[in-house]
Amino acid sequence: MSAHSTPSLLSERKGFSTALVSHLAKLGLHTLQDLILHLPIRYLDETRITAIRDLRMGDEAQVQGEIVHAEVSYKPRKALIARIQDESGQLTLRFLHFYPSQINTLKEGAKLRVYGEVRHGFFGYEMVHPQCKKWREDAPVNTQLTPVYPTTAGLPQANIRKAVMLALEQNILFETLPAWVYAAHQMPSFSDSIRTLHQPAPHVSLEALQARTLPAWRRLALDELLAQQLSMRKHYAKRRSLDAPSVAESMKLVPALLQHLAFQLTNAQKKVVTEIANDLSQPHPMQRLLQGDVGSGKTIVACVAALQAIEHGWQVALMAPTEILAEQHFKKFTQWLVPLNIHIAWLTGSQSKKERAEALNSIADGTAQMVVGTHALFQDAVQFKRLGLAIVDEQHRFGVQQRLALRQKGQPEPHQLMMSATPIPRTLSMSYYADLDVSVIDELPPGRTPIVTKLVSDQRRDEILQRVREACQAGHQAYWVCPLIEESEALQLQTANDTYAYMQAQFPELKVGLVHGRMKPAEKQQVMQAFSAHETQLLVATTVIEVGVDVPNASLMVIEHAERFGLSQLHQLRGRVGRGAAKSTCILLYQSKLSDTARARLKVIFEHTDGFLIAQADLHLRGPGEFLGTRQSGVPMLKIADLERDEALLAEAKSIAERLLTESPQAVDQHLARWMYQVEELVKV
Ligand code: ADP
Ligand code: MG
Repeated sequence: MSAHSTPSLLSERKGFSTALVSHLAKLGLHTLQDLILHLPIRYLDETRITAIRDLRMGDEAQVQGEIVHAEVSYKPRKALIARIQDESGQLTLRFLHFYPSQINTLKEGAKLRVYGEVRHGFFGYEMVHPQCKKWREDAPVNTQLTPVYPTTAGLPQANIRKAVMLALEQNILFETLPAWVYAAHQMPSFSDSIRTLHQPAPHVSLEALQARTLPAWRRLALDELLAQQLSMRKHYAKRRSLDAPSVAESMKLVPALLQHLAFQLTNAQKKVVTEIANDLSQPHPMQRLLQGDVGSGKTIVACVAALQAIEHGWQVALMAPTEILAEQHFKKFTQWLVPLNIHIAWLTGSQSKKERAEALNSIADGTAQMVVGTHALFQDAVQFKRLGLAIVDEQHRFGVQQRLALRQKGQPEPHQLMMSATPIPRTLSMSYYADLDVSVIDELPPGRTPIVTKLVSDQRRDEILQRVREACQAGHQAYWVCPLIEESEALQLQTANDTYAYMQAQFPELKVGLVHGRMKPAEKQQVMQAFSAHETQLLVATTVIEVGVDVPNASLMVIEHAERFGLSQLHQLRGRVGRGAAKSTCILLYQSKLSDTARARLKVIFEHTDGFLIAQADLHLRGPGEFLGTRQSGVPMLKIADLERDEALLAEAKSIAERLLTESPQAVDQHLARWMYQVEELVKV
């Protein structure tokens, strides 16, 4: 068992030079265990020689022959071009970047084996940047598929292959899991899987290897998913073992609120209200994520939860990522809570010294029962008397540290409710969010008029400007969203200013507002206030209005360069209209001509209004990294498992993990050690 416990540092092993070790370190590979889990990204089939005549477009193939012509050509650009010939025909080889040594290899008369992808070229088929090897007449073809590893500059495939082979010779391929886990799923052992993937036997199908459907791949995907589940569930259990205020059901305040509310909760809201109320009554901290589409009514749910805690003498904090949003929440909560004689404090970065001191005092002495604010809430100066519940809106906008800082303001541990406006696809919440309980509001309040979405080419801008004019003259309001310029904040700012100047010139008869991320919070607030009070009719904005902004009289939104935005972002933006009685329209202006992916993305947003469906499509198009936001920093990304392809496996991993945690804690530790899959403690916020 000693091999298990000592991580075998590569720097201490024979056969690993200092240069090799430092290259491998760049790939994050430090131990033998790391190396065996560094799996090929693809495979070359050098086991066959294909006759040039039999090559097919798109194939990867190996041919063997003699160079009959070679030249460095300068038109249209510098390239090394050679022709190789076998008994059946000729093939062009093209190199756009090359070394002098390659000119030498590709001399006329040289006998070579070349491997590459077959493409259409000027003179029939060609290979661009094929791998070339001198061919000695007596050299046999390979008997195995050749693995290709992710690598880094200066580390050739041959060297990394050799390093992996060295690691495979060590006695470290032990099994971490009981047999019932893998045998029951007709999967091979860990060591067989690893060997198959690094050194596929001659009969193994290239297709199944590349598609990662081979049982060996599935076994390792299961291992990885299990490591993720085990790690997250362990953290979940750890937090659950902490003490938190157990808060009984609300008998007074919640019924009073609901009685005076202008609307009835939807069934979906009632369901999540019950789930949260039940969590709050437990003696350990709630760790729940509340998700629901834009406009599904998460704020009132948060308010109900807050009242339950307040009724039993606990303070509640609600933190929002932007000043605009915090202000809006503050107004809503004031409207709901003040009639119930509840004292609300308000804390942001832009307050006057005096206001701030007052707020801090009321938070410290407990007179503030409810506190709404921005990042200002978790600063050191903020001391709660009895914080019982911390609510974080738009949780993905906050870093883990920030959420942790807020949580630490309670003694004992406060309950935590996190809210997310971007619906999270099921596979994602089952994997990367497995450390949380999840509640979903899957129904919108009644009486919403569906938003009409239009895709319009930028060439028809004039028509759109006319529409804006008409809408505003008819007493409605409109948003004009500036193109997103992610690369440069300065350019983004300039675009916003330019658009604003342009709109003012276009519409001398209208009052136009401008809001962007670089404004001071107080300025932003003023602009939003003016728009909300209908003092301005057209609001030119960047994505700062993406989250939460609620102005029901706004019924038209134009988004410029819609093709640059992410799907969930477009969905969020579009959710700013369709909040009132008037029929709303969202116009997506695009710059033709669209790329295929851009077209596919806009099609999704054009055809669907269901946030979960859009999120699913977004996950498919962009992968989980983009989706996770700040969570990413605390949770390692999956490398082998793919949430779409391995969805069924994910469900398996979930139930296997539960069983392992109760039945085989030792296996759990061994498994986690192998996969080094440790979710940082911080993420448990
Ligand atoms: P989100 O989930 O996007 O945060 P909000 O909480 O801001 O949504 O709610 C959107 C709007 O719907 C608000 O104006 C809110 O008052 C209203 N609302 C919430 N729940 C209901 C309901 N059950 N019936 C009618 N309107 C509701
Ligand atoms: Mg909201």
